[in-house]
Amino acid sequence: FQVFLAPFTGNEKDITGVLAVFHDITTLQEMHDRQADFVTNASHELATPLTAIKGFAETLLDGALTQPELNEKFVRIIYDEADRMHRLVLDLLRLARLSAQEYREQVRLDAVLVGPVVEAAKQDLTPRWQQKNHTLIITGTTEPLTALAHPDWLKQVIVNLLENSIKYTPAGGKILLTCWQEDNEIKIKVKDSGIGIPAKDLPLIFDRFYRVDRARARTAGGTGLGLAIAKFIVEMLGGRIEAASLVDVGTTFTITLPAYEAVSNT
Ligand code: ADP
Repeated sequence: FQVFLAPFTGNEKDITGVLAVFHDITTLQEMHDRQADFVTNASHELATPLTAIKGFAETLLDGALTQPELNEKFVRIIYDEADRMHRLVLDLLRLARLSAQEYREQVRLDAVLVGPVVEAAKQDLTPRWQQKNHTLIITGTTEPLTALAHPDWLKQVIVNLLENSIKYTPAGGKILLTCWQEDNEIKIKVKDSGIGIPAKDLPLIFDRFYRVDRARARTAGGTGLGLAIAKFIVEMLGGRIEAASLVDVGTTFTITLPAYEAVSNT
């Protein structure tokens, strides 16, 4: 609590009482703490690749440049770490934009045909799943499913979920994306045959920077923000996102969005 005290004075300037005003500042304090944690985490995440970039560039300048066999190896590491930083900065910018009230008020939700958005997301990721020899099966996209959404943001959610399925499924795995309508809602389900998520971690995976296995997530090239962004967007669109998983069997994410007809008829 924040307490303000103001003395009352009577006619003779004697203090006749004290007015105390209590302000509950816990939520404000919590918001500040969360913001500070986020900045600390983001700084650590950026510092890790930056340290590697600096270290390898220094080693090259200190003489390794004259050793051709090291040149390519070190430059490759510098490139990969810069690429990681780039992806992280893009995700941070996405989150910042989504968090800005002003931006959210500008976003116009409209009728979005789900099929073409899913197909576009699949197209963007084709080299990724093909490289890992995954089978990607997509069903329901020829149905005229219309959600009340925003095409770019919906595509972003699908890309993030598919990217995770590709990353956390050992080569040669199976990924299934299905979309359908149920009453007044559009459902999109992404199911993989991957490493799965332990039950104790499942409630935390939508938190910013939370990873089940830090080392694995790092080699897979994640930023730790993909699911936080997906949840943020889905909720912005008035929907919800759920995860179910079994270790070594696979993970299923289901997003639910309001169907366009449902909204336009009310
Ligand atoms: P990252 O960039 O690390 O993938 P995300 O926010 O996308 O971050 O996901 C958070 C964590 O949830 C991941 O680090 C991973 O441990 C776990 N995860 C997400 N999707 C899957 C999946 N399909 N299979 C297994 N684990 C997953």
